[in-house]
Amino acid sequence: MSAQELCPICGEGHVTASVQMVEYEYKGHKAELPSHYKQCDTCTSDFAGMAESKLNKRIVMAFRKQVDGLLTGDEITALRKQYKLTQAQAARLFGGGPVAFSKYENDDVAQSEAMDTLLRLVRRSPAAFWALVEEKGLQADFTQQREPVRADVQGTVQLISLPRVQNNTIRPDPHYAPRAFRRFRQGAVSCQR
Ligand SMILES: [Zn+2]
Repeated sequence: MSAQELCPICGEGHVTASVQMVEYEYKGHKAELPSHYKQCDTCTSDFAGMAESKLNKRIVMAFRKQVDGLLTGDEITALRKQYKLTQAQAARLFGGGPVAFSKYENDDVAQSEAMDTLLRLVRRSPAAFWALVEEKGLQADFTQQREPVRADVQGTVQLISLPRVQNNTIRPDPHYAPRAFRRFRQGAVSCQR
């Protein structure tokens, strides 16, 4: 058995996985992102197969989310674990459909700005989490989360980022970027009637 994959193009050479940094631009922001591909040692073809394409798409999506001020997949995973939620529970609580969280967390799709706002609010505030559980009538599903997950901010809904750490145990979320929290583009519709 061969350890190396045969080249699908020439059928003779073997392919090796490689990575190349490629400049990518999105909304005026540039970044060097890793691009995964395979290269044949015989015909020198390089190509991205299914796995590489998927990975490359996720890397680009993660960068776009950052530019758009949305939580990245890793940040959403951390938030879900903060509240000991399964992906299915998170979907029941926040909406988005049964596989939404798998897609958000893998950076397969970007969450909407509304979803992002809700996730950020809950990340900052266990009180907001419990209010949402009640609102959705899901108390019975979330008995496991009974213990306070972040006692430091329990019961305190902070919609405004604190300038600095105060002399108590409240810690502003290090990931919180007020700049990116709300962004109204031109022509955006106000939610007020
Ligand atoms: Zn080849």
